Amino acid sequence: MIFVKPIDISNIKKRHHLTQVIMCINAFIVHVSLLIVGYIASIYGNFHYQTGSILIIILLCSVIRINFYYVLPTVFLVVASQLYFTANILNESGVVLLEHVFIFPTIALLSCLSNARMESEIRKNFLKSILLEHKKKKLEIAKKELLQQLLSDPLTGLMNRRGFDQNFSKIWLNAIRNKYAISFLMIDIDLFKQCNGSQGHLIGDLSLKSIADILKYELKRPEDFVACLGGEEFAVVMPQTNNGSATLIAETIRKAIWEKKIFHPASKADHRLTISIGLATMIPEQKTSYDLIIDAADIALYKAKENGRNRLYNFLEST
Ligand code: GH3
Ligand code: MG
Ligand code: MG
Repeated sequence: MIFVKPIDISNIKKRHHLTQVIMCINAFIVHVSLLIVGYIASIYGNFHYQTGSILIIILLCSVIRINFYYVLPTVFLVVASQLYFTANILNESGVVLLEHVFIFPTIALLSCLSNARMESEIRKNFLKSILLEHKKKKLEIAKKELLQQLLSDPLTGLMNRRGFDQNFSKIWLNAIRNKYAISFLMIDIDLFKQCNGSQGHLIGDLSLKSIADILKYELKRPEDFVACLGGEEFAVVMPQTNNGSATLIAETIRKAIWEKKIFHPASKADHRLTISIGLATMIPEQKTSYDLIIDAADIALYKAKENGRNRLYNFLEST
């Protein structure tokens, strides 16, 4: 499971809110300055229309798009102070007062509504993008799991034939390009039919799992890989491994299985389950396929069976 460390956004949030509060205070200060300008103009007998305050409301609500919960009290203060100023400081009445009573609250209401609407749209889009991202991640995980299932053997958890083909073809091409040796082991359980016959398939399956675990454990290099080619046949691919090293590894695997003492009533070898191994090593040549090394290891495996089972046979010996 992947854990993503959550980012601490509390500081960012605090800074964001502080900026909004400062902007609202600034806007209100500008509005008060405009009222003072209006008052000075009235001393000289001029009437100042206060259009600047209307712009402030529009700016806060729609252009800067301050958060609705900050914009609402600010706009309320702007409108209330404007109306108080017009009625009680400028002592306006009649048409001018009526005009202000109508224009300011109307513009304030419309601006606040548009602000609320824009905010809800932004929130909705943000939520949608998060949901989409979440769905994308889930889909990616499902795809990976499906691919994993497609490429692995359900009983042993090892790579299956499909996974083996995919991996081996890449390794083979790489070996052709870089001219290095590949060693390959074909492993088959001895007299497994009889093992199943005497103990049942379920016990047989458990034996297969134990052998798969031993194979996984014994292959230490990350480049090596083991696959279950179907039934009770396993393949081990060891890139950049010469025949000598591969012989040592194959013997270690065979002995590890012998020492595991998996019970096999029909086995002539101390009633233990054993394996036979065919080994082949090649430096692949241009335009060849990895079937070459599989066939060679198969021939070696056949020889190992022929020679009495529970043994390794090296393809080099047969040539
Ligand atoms: P040999 O020593 O010549 O290999 O003899 P063998 O009896 O092992 O012969 P072979 O390799 O042909 O045996 C294949 C048997 O493996 C057939 C089947 O009973 C068994 N088998 C194949 N797949 C499974 C599996 O998934 N589970 C179990 N329990 N048995 C399996
Ligand atoms: Mg077999
Ligand atoms: Mg067998």
